[in-house]
Amino acid sequence: MQKITPRVYQISGKLGAGVWGANVFLLTGNNLTLVDTGFRGRVTQILKETRRLGYSPSDIGNIIITHHHADHIGSLAMLKKVTQAEVMAHPADAPYIDGRLPQPGPTAPQWLRRPLAPLLRLWITPPVIVDILVNDGDELPMLGGIKVLHTPGHTPGSICLFLPQERLVIAGDVLANRFRLSLPSKAYTVDIVQEIRSIQVVANLDFDVVCFGHGSALIEDTRLTVVDFARRLREKYRTVLANQETT
Ligand SMILES: [Zn+2]
Ligand SMILES: [Zn+2]
Repeated sequence: MQKITPRVYQISGKLGAGVWGANVFLLTGNNLTLVDTGFRGRVTQILKETRRLGYSPSDIGNIIITHHHADHIGSLAMLKKVTQAEVMAHPADAPYIDGRLPQPGPTAPQWLRRPLAPLLRLWITPPVIVDILVNDGDELPMLGGIKVLHTPGHTPGSICLFLPQERLVIAGDVLANRFRLSLPSKAYTVDIVQEIRSIQVVANLDFDVVCFGHGSALIEDTRLTVVDFARRLREKYRTVLANQETT
């Protein structure tokens, strides 16, 4: 577990900072809140780290989901059951979380399905009802006010969380930091134009730290790095962006 700011902790995936399974964040303060839950099988680790900070599982009042992918909601059903926490997510991703729409996942040829079965099963997530739908511009009461930003592209209902008091952004998979700043997996990104616009939305915020679903938090020269990355993306995808604007 890594302390990112005095009130925000990152619980990393199995092979470090979310290389295998997404990072999970614990927001402390008056109201204990989890952000994302990792693949299924992370419940023991998450609750152990919660206890290490001096809390009990029932102190977790809310679980905010940045987007519906299985590496972020795999442990949600079990965690909701254990903690009785209220689940928050954007309405555009809620149908994938509550099972009305299927989770996208990797496909494999018939002959590989049996050996890969344990891996493929990770993408099947037990349906969970979203208790509170959160929209762009909503302000949540934790840590002095968390601003919800609707940042679609990776999924239709991806959100970023801006914590002005911590000067921190939790970017989910809108950005990744696998050794360097990058786009999320293209195979699992539904709309690249929206995705690039969403990265610009993050770049326009006033922050010192960015946390990612995958990779280590950026804590040095952060804003400059994100602004520069957004600029390079706009250059690279200039034609695609321009075509979208004229249609
Ligand atoms: Zn992810
Ligand atoms: Zn994702």
